[in-house]
Amino acid sequence: MHVKVLGSAAGGGFPQWNCACSNCSRMRRGVFRGSARTQAQVAVSADGATWFLLNASPDLRQQILATPELAPHGPQRGSPIAGVVLTSADVDAVIGLLHLREFQPLRIFATRGVRRIVTERNILFRTLERSDPPVEWYDLPLGKEVALTSGLRCTAIPVGGSYPEYVDNDLRRTLAPEEAVIGLTVTDGTKTLLFAPGLPAKAKDWKSQVEASDLALLDGTFWTNDELTKVRGSGRTAREMGHLPLSGRGGLLEELRGATRPRRVAIHINNTNPILDEESAEHRAMLDAGWEIARDGMEFHL
Ligand SMILES: [Zn+2]
Repeated sequence: MHVKVLGSAAGGGFPQWNCACSNCSRMRRGVFRGSARTQAQVAVSADGATWFLLNASPDLRQQILATPELAPHGPQRGSPIAGVVLTSADVDAVIGLLHLREFQPLRIFATRGVRRIVTERNILFRTLERSDPPVEWYDLPLGKEVALTSGLRCTAIPVGGSYPEYVDNDLRRTLAPEEAVIGLTVTDGTKTLLFAPGLPAKAKDWKSQVEASDLALLDGTFWTNDELTKVRGSGRTAREMGHLPLSGRGGLLEELRGATRPRRVAIHINNTNPILDEESAEHRAMLDAGWEIARDGMEFHL
């Protein structure tokens, strides 16, 4: 199985246009030791010819253009991208669908709750129905393996997050809470990828999924629980935003301490996160704990 990281940052990317945190400011001044990053996006393929996107990032157009495997193969209009699997209805996970609207037939897999938010309340996405045949939506049942195409199967794992704040209460009341945020396992029958860019504090059972996978791309959004409130002066903590921080008590590093497998890679990294700074103690602590830090263009062959 081929896994490509097309984007590794959280919403806003790195640097973020309106952010004056230490990381973003130093990056703009050219004195930051580390890489700029686009918003989180992963592509997977069993054969290297047909690809599925995991989520659809706001940066998807430039990410596709930067990835030769995703260019049309022949003289005809077309795409090696067969479809998209969504893990939430967060803006950063769905906006990129609009980049895929050029009359290209696609399959989109999502939980029923996420599909309803995108298709019933956001009329811009109806533009996808204009392709011929129209984009097809498939429900992702929780905990049940579903065939994508061309040798890949995927399973939705509920991780206990909540629907985005933009969802109105009338709709929210009719949605199953456990369908709000999922992790995904993707397998070609031999190797397994776990993709969980959002791991809420109340997530259960995810550790067994980590242990059962060959590669785990996990929530690397924040280093500390109060990272964003410190920069903004107010607002929600990492845990309140649905992200277990990497450090501290009950953080991801502690939870997976001593694990010998799989390859653990932090992805969906917020621009405030000190692990982006390759000269920081936090960056070193990640590597010492056996983690890798995702960057745009990273590839895995499982
Ligand atoms: Zn910043």
